[in-house]
Amino acid sequence: MNNTGIEALKSKLPREVWTQDQDIIAPWLSEWRDKFFGQTPLMLMPRSTDEVARAVKICAAHKIPILPQGGNTGLVGGSTPQGEVLLSLRKMNKLRDVSAPDQLLIAEAGMTLQSVQEAARDAGLKFPLSLAAQGSCTIGGNLSTNAGGVHVIKYGSAKSLCLGVEAVLADGSIYSDLSRLRKDNTGYDLSRLFLGAEGTLGIITAASLRLVPAPAGIMRALVALAGPDDALTLLGRAQNAALAMFEVMPRSALDLVIKYIPDHRDPFDGPHPYYALIDWELGRDDEDTRAPFMALLEAAIADGLARDVVIAQSDTQAAQLLSLRENMSAAQKHDGGSIKHDVSVAVSDVPKFLARADALLARMIPNCRPVGFGHMGDGNIHYNVARPIDMDSQTFLSNWDRVQTAVHDLVSDMGGSISAEHGIGIMKKDDLAIRADPVKLALMRTVKSALDPDNILNPRVMI
Ligand SMILES: Cc1cc2nc3c(=O)[nH]c(=O)nc-3n(C[C@H](O)[C@H](O)[C@H](O)COP(=O)(O)OP(=O)(O)OC[C@H]3O[C@@H](n4cnc5c(N)ncnc54)[C@H](O)[C@@H]3O)c2cc1C
Repeated sequence: MNNTGIEALKSKLPREVWTQDQDIIAPWLSEWRDKFFGQTPLMLMPRSTDEVARAVKICAAHKIPILPQGGNTGLVGGSTPQGEVLLSLRKMNKLRDVSAPDQLLIAEAGMTLQSVQEAARDAGLKFPLSLAAQGSCTIGGNLSTNAGGVHVIKYGSAKSLCLGVEAVLADGSIYSDLSRLRKDNTGYDLSRLFLGAEGTLGIITAASLRLVPAPAGIMRALVALAGPDDALTLLGRAQNAALAMFEVMPRSALDLVIKYIPDHRDPFDGPHPYYALIDWELGRDDEDTRAPFMALLEAAIADGLARDVVIAQSDTQAAQLLSLRENMSAAQKHDGGSIKHDVSVAVSDVPKFLARADALLARMIPNCRPVGFGHMGDGNIHYNVARPIDMDSQTFLSNWDRVQTAVHDLVSDMGGSISAEHGIGIMKKDDLAIRADPVKLALMRTVKSALDPDNILNPRVMI
């Protein structure tokens, strides 16, 4: 490591902004899955855009690599430093502005997603990005990974909720586009460059976010089904402006949550093979929008498509139903881990993908337990494969690379994506290099070297 550069950072930045105390740094060097472990000579915790810019200028002068970090909930190794200076945005957590008439909010990058949601709610509006890590992940991380979550079917991913960003570039200059405009066609939309860039093109310090009218309420139902084909049929019938979530899970996933996560129970009297969890947003005239949802569920029961239905009768019950879905990854951790995939195919291909992937895995590792769950409404499945009951975790997880290659080959064959919402990071970098269109890869490299010629911004991820 460049000791002169590190000493320059320490001497030129306020004492409160940096630490080398390993007790403070340690929690930020490993991640949620315990798959990546890192190290850093220095953690920076700037409190303002100006402090970020000053830090980056020093790093640029000494060619010191920097890794920006938000909540450290990313799942692809992109937020774990391996010798880079760790630049945490968590102290930049102020709400700069919220405007109900403009339906927008300007947040600093370190605000958690949940605090952004709360600020929108206080203004009588809604910020519709929603995911299980929302109490910890930051808006800067959400934009840098173009996070998805459970409401993409209605509101799109993080990208579509961003009007513009403020970002510190690799030379320490500040790009400022905290737009309050809905329409602006004055040249390239450069803010978009930073969305989904995983910290490789600039450090997002603040963002202007689009808010939407808050629905009058939400009806949430868990529908028991025979399998993915029936889920797809139900999704087709449910298509409506009120449909805000359509998540699916097999019985095996529910079993794991009930077994490992305290206070979770089966909402039905008995087991069913498959489930869809649906959110239906209510308009101002409550009855107008409630009726079609009830009609949809009643028809599904009447013609045998649905085997049973539970409709949440209170906020508590609604939260319990969502918690079953949100704890699926956590439950798999207790079960000895799983080989994970975050893939997407065309929505109509989801059942075919699941059938082909299950058959493939049965051939590769007999008796392994594929648990494919997630965002069927967006064609995005978290295809997590659990170990055979009689195989120890370590032996099973040693198959990660060959299983991932086989699943990604299948996804590619079906015209899908090997990273639907979590990004590329370290984990899928080699895969991207092999599978991406060469013209796209070359263009990505051109953009990267134009914005970061010395390759100091998150230099090991993505490309
Ligand atoms: C239980 C659980 C459930 C999850 N569910 C979902 C889900 O449903 N949908 C989904 O999309 N993701 C999900 N995730 C993944 C994760 O929460 C998202 O990727 C999230 O957007 C990461 O935000 P973060 O602040 O934690 O970013 P980090 O993990 O800190 O960073 C992620 C990447 O962004 C970069 N970065 C972070 N902040 C900045 C910044 N300000 N400027 C530039 N680059 C930056 C980092 O360098 C890194 O490459 C889940 C994670 C967990 C643990």
